[in-house]
Amino acid sequence: MSNYSSEQRPVVALIGTGGTIASVAGVETQLSDYTVSNDVGSLIQAVPALQSLAVFEFEQVCNIESHGIGDALLLRIAHRVNAWLALEHVSAVVITHGTDTLEETAYFLNLVVKSEKPVVLVGAMRPSSALSADGPLNLFHAVSAAVCRESVGKGVLVVMNDRIIAARHATKGHTTNVDAFVVPEQGCLGVVSGLDVQYFNAPLRRHTTRSEFCVDHALQSLPPVDIIYDYQGAGTHLYEASLGAGARGIVLAATGNGSLSPAALAGATMALGQGVAFVRASRVWQGSVRPSQRDGQLGVVAAQSLNPQKARVLLRLALLEPRDRVSLQRLFDEY
Ligand code: ASP
Repeated sequence: MSNYSSEQRPVVALIGTGGTIASVAGVETQLSDYTVSNDVGSLIQAVPALQSLAVFEFEQVCNIESHGIGDALLLRIAHRVNAWLALEHVSAVVITHGTDTLEETAYFLNLVVKSEKPVVLVGAMRPSSALSADGPLNLFHAVSAAVCRESVGKGVLVVMNDRIIAARHATKGHTTNVDAFVVPEQGCLGVVSGLDVQYFNAPLRRHTTRSEFCVDHALQSLPPVDIIYDYQGAGTHLYEASLGAGARGIVLAATGNGSLSPAALAGATMALGQGVAFVRASRVWQGSVRPSQRDGQLGVVAAQSLNPQKARVLLRLALLEPRDRVSLQRLFDEY
């Protein structure tokens, strides 16, 4: 791709939400204990080369670390993305975001954004003040991908460390390394190097305009769903607490191939007895938990290749309307 003349440059809406990409630490060797302090306007200013790619309009939705994002903010991000994309003159949206929960926001948007236009989430593993900060090039690459015509219709994308990854598959796989985002099994969609964007794959699961989910402005929160991590010697107290707190669904981060330990089986029986949905995902980071005959007998749903945190995103949207097990399993098979 070549540079655009000013008349040809597409308009990109840049939405800032915070995260390490917007953070500053005391000295350049300090890679933790930093503070989110840069707004989205200063992120653009820090990368003058961005001006060759696009004309920017921007909005600061929040400026926090991503583990602080709750329902109200998540819904607001979704509404703002849809609002920007509905503007005819806007070609794409890029969202700067903390990496900790980036995959959750990305997958949520993948299910509720109603546009074919590119939406790209980007973050950084090192604060902007660090030696070899990764934020500026990640941001440049995110915009490169966002203005690439081939990104149209590919659903929500994550761009980190030169890779373009489908929101459905991206997951954070390292606590500190700049190569933090991994794509178990499915592989990345493409790569980006400066202005050069190359795609190799396209996502097949339903997303954006082919998704049946939408969030309207009247919606203030999503149905509560807990994730319970299983382990040797687990008890039933976490299931009791979750149900006692009013969970509408439980996602099990099960051992192995979605195995139900004695505690998990008791938890599932309790949950289903109270009309609470129960989904088996795995704490193993690769592979799928496929539906089994026993799921049908118990009333349990299999998460397929969604990890527990993404299974939770889908289940919360699914539970916006009453559904039986068959309908829930259909969603996990298709999205
Ligand atoms: N703590 C940060 C956050 O998720 C990590 C990051 O941005 O990479 O906001």
